[in-house]
Amino acid sequence: MNSTLVEVRNLKKHFPSPAGPVKAVDGVNLKIEKGTSFGLVGESGCGKSTLIRVMLKLLEPTDGKVFFRGKDITGYGFRQMRPLRKEMAMVFQDPHLALNPRMTVFDIISRPLKIHGLARGKGELMVQVVETLKAMGLQTEHMIRFPHELSGGQKQRIGVARALVVEPEIIFLDEPTSALDVSVQTKILKLLDKARRERDLTFFFISHDINLIRVVADTMGVMYLGKIVETGPKEILLEDPHHPYTRGLFAAVPEPDPDKIITEIKLTGEVPSPVNPPDGCNFNPRCPYVQSRCREIEPELKELADGRSVACHLY
Ligand code: SF4
Repeated sequence: MNSTLVEVRNLKKHFPSPAGPVKAVDGVNLKIEKGTSFGLVGESGCGKSTLIRVMLKLLEPTDGKVFFRGKDITGYGFRQMRPLRKEMAMVFQDPHLALNPRMTVFDIISRPLKIHGLARGKGELMVQVVETLKAMGLQTEHMIRFPHELSGGQKQRIGVARALVVEPEIIFLDEPTSALDVSVQTKILKLLDKARRERDLTFFFISHDINLIRVVADTMGVMYLGKIVETGPKEILLEDPHHPYTRGLFAAVPEPDPDKIITEIKLTGEVPSPVNPPDGCNFNPRCPYVQSRCREIEPELKELADGRSVACHLY
């Protein structure tokens, strides 16, 4: 039986700009169940990266709530968040920027253990670093290397090892393989999946790449212009996407099952500005099924009988 580990309610993050507030995240509701892998997909600029940072309290929300293990952590300051940083780890998108070039691999991976007081003495630190390196398919000899001596794939494995070493409850992964070659991506995804199953971890992935979400997620969410438009079990969404935007997004990706029939929607037009999103449903200027009410009334994210939720007046 799953239990909710992280929940966000009506979460908003608006950034000031001369043209008016940029509504990067604009009323997101979602739940991440313990032991699952939630994959959030959406095009660049839809607000995914901002959402992850607000959920981790790296950015303060403009409105809404963030809960961790049922506790409202929205108002937590630096000190209150400190112990939670061990439970909520993050893997960044670009492994070349995420690692301090002046630190050895041992220093990089052992640092969070020292910060959270999770190892007594150098011997214990060494054991934990070596074990975590092995879990990510790296060798003991990598400990003395500096980031510039490693390949992109090895750097990202170090980034994952740094997140894993403190045994967090949940790891947030921001486009973790987008800076890597396809062959390296597959290896890292397999290692991540193995680590998650062995350690009973929870993952929250964000990516523009549906194929990545297809491989790693149990639950899937689709984000458009700062809002979740559809979410639910991965198989259900992939088999029969409902929201017109989800259908357009999926249709743009080659379908691995040649026998599957998809009613394709071609995404046309530009994504509207998050400074001045359309009234009603924010997908209405691009939607082939638009009705008059879509231009006036914002659709709520409604739960359907098959377990998915969708924000569209057609459902
Ligand atoms: Fe299209 Fe209307 Fe549904 Fe929005 S609410 S996706 S405009 S049909």
